[in-house]
Amino acid sequence: MNQRKPFMAANWKMNLKRDESVELVKAIAAQAPDPDRVEVLVAPPFTSIATVKEAIGSAPILLAGQNMHWEPQGAYTGEVSPPMLVEAGCTHVILGHSERRSLFGETDEMIDRKAKSAVRFGLTPIICIGESLKEREEDRTTEVIEAQLRGSLKSFTDQKRLPPAVLLAYEPVWAIGTGETATPEDASQAHGVLRTRLRKVLGDSRAVATPILYGGSVKPENAAELMRAPGVDGVLVGGASLDPVSFLAIARAGVPLT
Ligand code: PEP
Repeated sequence: MNQRKPFMAANWKMNLKRDESVELVKAIAAQAPDPDRVEVLVAPPFTSIATVKEAIGSAPILLAGQNMHWEPQGAYTGEVSPPMLVEAGCTHVILGHSERRSLFGETDEMIDRKAKSAVRFGLTPIICIGESLKEREEDRTTEVIEAQLRGSLKSFTDQKRLPPAVLLAYEPVWAIGTGETATPEDASQAHGVLRTRLRKVLGDSRAVATPILYGGSVKPENAAELMRAPGVDGVLVGGASLDPVSFLAIARAGVPLT
């Protein structure tokens, strides 16, 4: 039996002011799918997190930061710390999104430090991993995503100390915001590579329990097909998560048929 509950996540990126964020989350909350069957999470911009938390109230919607620094406080102008995310109501944090890696120079080493710190402060990391178009064309997808996973969880592996929970998001860079989507077969293949590597890092039982999401131009039209792909446990949605109708349709595609 699959012990991983489908996990449908929305990354709002640098979009939506507070009023718009509240409007969107309320629309999602009003029709959120059964939390016993599917998890729903939203990741608003920092300035909206606390307000969105309030708007969520008791609705079954989890809240994530889109990034954080690894230090709990200090002279890091412009950064946000793990305790700040927790205080604002987050339970999760997205780490290593390809936009963070490519536009802000984040490395696996930085993501590893962030993951360790997130866990220390009680946040569950959602670690993004994915190959670029060039790497895909050079047939290096497996090598690249394995290396990113190894690098991003290095501290846990070295210290043989497992994080209480972690999620992975396989997000091929060429599919993010481009309208191009990995085929279900491509997604399954990459998720299989990641799960095999996870077994080496976390051990069998933890690897089996770790959800691996797919991200990259997920839309209502392709969500069900992707969710049926073996090894795909959920999705991380950017553009299509800004519209409640689209995101709810995607979230419903995560509800198991039986
Ligand atoms: C993302 O930002 O994580 C993402 C997958 O974006 P989009 O759905 O727009 O491709």
